[in-house]
Amino acid sequence: MRRALCLATILGLGAPAAADDRCHDELAARGVSWKPARRSGVADAVEIRGPLGGVAWTPPGREPLVIDCSLAVSLAEAGRMFRAVGITEARWSSGYSVRNVRGTDHRSKHSFGLAVDLPRLVGPDVGALAVAADFEPGLGDAVDCVGQPMTQGGAVLKVLQCQLVRSGLFYLVLSPDYDDAHHDHFHLEARPWSQRPQVTDARQAIH
Ligand SMILES: [Zn+2]
Repeated sequence: MRRALCLATILGLGAPAAADDRCHDELAARGVSWKPARRSGVADAVEIRGPLGGVAWTPPGREPLVIDCSLAVSLAEAGRMFRAVGITEARWSSGYSVRNVRGTDHRSKHSFGLAVDLPRLVGPDVGALAVAADFEPGLGDAVDCVGQPMTQGGAVLKVLQCQLVRSGLFYLVLSPDYDDAHHDHFHLEARPWSQRPQVTDARQAIH
C-alpha cells in the first residue's frame, strides 16, 4: 500500500491541483492580490483584493469580486488594454451568479465564475462612461473593427471592445451589438483553465 502511494506520488497521480497552481502562478506573475475562496460550481474561486493589470474592479455593493482564476488571469492581462484607452476603473455589476442564460435552460457561465458584466468604465481623462449611454451600436465590420465613432466615449468603448475581442483572452466578449440582453454592459467570459493550452487563445471571440 505504501509502495503504491509512493508510486502514485512519483507519477504525479493524485495531484489534480497542478493546473490550479499554474493559474495561481499566472496571477502572481501579474502582481494580482487575491485569496482563495469557495463558491459552489466554481472550479478555482479567487477573491480579488486589488487591481487587475492596473485597473480597479469596483463592486456594486459590499460583495468583493469572486471569480474563477482563469477569468482573473484574463482580466489582469487585459488591464493594459483598458489603460491604453484611459480606463483605470471598471465598475462591474455581476460576477459569480447562479442563473440560466436568459430564455434558455442552459447555465450561464456566471454560474461557474467564468463571466463578469461590466456596465461602467471610468478614467481620469475620459470620465465616467456607461455602456448603455456611450457605446455606439453598429460600428465596424470584419475588416475595420472600430469604424467611425462619433464621440470620444464611443471611441474609447469601441476600441476597447475590439482589443478585448482580438486579444484571444476571452471566449466571449458580448456588447450591445450582440442582443438586447446586453444593451447596457459588456459580458466578458473566459474559458475554464483546464481548456486553455495557453493564456491567450488564437480563436476569435464572439462579439
Ligand atoms: Zn454576463
